[in-house]
Amino acid sequence: MTVTASPVPILSDNYAWLLRDSSTGATAIVDPADAQPIIEAIEKAGGRLDMILLTHHHGDHIAGVDEVRARFNCPVVGAAADRHRLPALDQAVREGDTVRLGSAVGEVIETPGHTRGQINFFFPDGAVLLSGDTLFSLGCGRLIEGTPAEMFDSLRKLAALPGDTLVCCGHEYTESNARFALAVDPGNEALHDFVGRVEQLRAAGQPSVPSVLADELKANPFLLAPDVASLAAVRAKKDKF
Ligand SMILES: [Zn+2]
Repeated sequence: MTVTASPVPILSDNYAWLLRDSSTGATAIVDPADAQPIIEAIEKAGGRLDMILLTHHHGDHIAGVDEVRARFNCPVVGAAADRHRLPALDQAVREGDTVRLGSAVGEVIETPGHTRGQINFFFPDGAVLLSGDTLFSLGCGRLIEGTPAEMFDSLRKLAALPGDTLVCCGHEYTESNARFALAVDPGNEALHDFVGRVEQLRAAGQPSVPSVLADELKANPFLLAPDVASLAAVRAKKDKF
């Protein structure tokens, strides 16, 4: 009994995530911003959709929601704080709330920084984290609405999850994040190992994600930032990189 997560490549570099609870076959899609490829992926996986989960309100995460909802007639879950700018929500959630996918329970984690109302979902059964545009592989989201202090706290919450957590993020940014990470932390051996694995996956045409949280903790310059000022500095540097 476990939750599995598969990336569905959409738009130029986004990932929606198809979640499946193995014991019941219940299925969810995270951030379905492009209806057609997502409907095809769901049909290919058996044609069942029980729930749509949203991490935040940006168009490249929500644009396909209404079409996917109409096709499968399933509930939409998103942040209560952002319900005014999300598609109509059937379940509006906050920090500590849970969502049910078949027999699996997902925990809601509020992670402001990229946007004020950003949320992530963590399924302990399967150790699956849907990190939206908060935590990327070797990177973090730009601070479009939030402060460095908010992003620091958000990343600390994610860093406290189990080391084997699979980080399922919203974009394939890993190679460009890797170039920046190597520029600011050239002596980091774990980072070099990480980047080597990423290069192999991308050369084979595979997604670089999900990554493993324990690896991110040793290599991701935003998770390695020890305090708010350091995070603010590394984020500002990346914005100009
Ligand atoms: Zn975004």
